[in-house]
Amino acid sequence: MRTLVVDHPLVTHKLTALRDSSTDTATFRSLTAELVALLAYEATREMRVQPCSVNTPVGVADGVKLARPVPLIVPVLRAGIGMLSGMTQLLPMADVGFVGMVRDEESLVASTYADRLPTDLTGRDTFVLDPMLATGGTLATAIAMMAGRGATSITAICLLAAPEGIQRVESTFSSPDGPTIRVVTASIDERLNDRGYIVPGLGDAGDRLFGKI
Ligand code: URA
Repeated sequence: MRTLVVDHPLVTHKLTALRDSSTDTATFRSLTAELVALLAYEATREMRVQPCSVNTPVGVADGVKLARPVPLIVPVLRAGIGMLSGMTQLLPMADVGFVGMVRDEESLVASTYADRLPTDLTGRDTFVLDPMLATGGTLATAIAMMAGRGATSITAICLLAAPEGIQRVESTFSSPDGPTIRVVTASIDERLNDRGYIVPGLGDAGDRLFGKI
């Protein structure tokens, strides 16, 4: 697994504002979209393309277009939905699947309640949107679901990650025959606290995006 921490000053600036507990919901949402678009720019660096040429007003230019099948974006419900608009801004042609997972606040174990993924992901670039890579249980489950459908290129975009989560995903998918996995994030924070929250983190991403329900 490869992990990329995007240390661009704009990314750090937006992340700092997201972390601030005085940032209101409306600002949190728009900052999330902006931050995801910046992370997505790096996350899509190795996307498959195919050569093509176009007629310009004065000649012929060689270029590339995105290869088929089109990429698949998979936000992990609920908080991942807050990252979708930033991602589709960059990849408007992508398909979107959904995985729904909820974490038991006692055991911190994630269980799946929704699975809307294409049955065959062979040859597709896939992007999982999971804002907080905390224990790694949710992301590992989502990746396993996608790998089980044939995905071999899986990139997770996370606003923040904890070392514990990175280690868990890395050790779960360490087989050389497994899919290629990348994690792109704005920061690897210090640690998890005893409630499974990232420290210093930004709190509960779902609640800050959508309110406590
Ligand atoms: N989920 C969150 O929303 N925040 C954390 O810090 C950890 C998991």
